[in-house]
Amino acid sequence: MQCIVCKMGNVQPQKATAVFEINETTIIFKNVPALVCENCGEKYFDEETSEKLIEKAHKIAQSDVELDIRDYNKTAA
Ligand SMILES: [Zn+2]
Repeated sequence: MQCIVCKMGNVQPQKATAVFEINETTIIFKNVPALVCENCGEKYFDEETSEKLIEKAHKIAQSDVELDIRDYNKTAA
């Protein structure tokens, strides 16, 4: 697959970092399976992963912390 953003690079399966900011909470997920552009670094998450990330991020945001960093694979849904 070719990158949609730069239209130059090819995307490769990699582990990426996803960052969410919800209200006052910043949530960082590490080791998220993604396709990453070799050229510009744009990340593409599939639909299932995106949904899980959003769901998890919103749950974490309810806990009222300012910053939460976790491993995607060790985070319960
Ligand atoms: Zn790109």
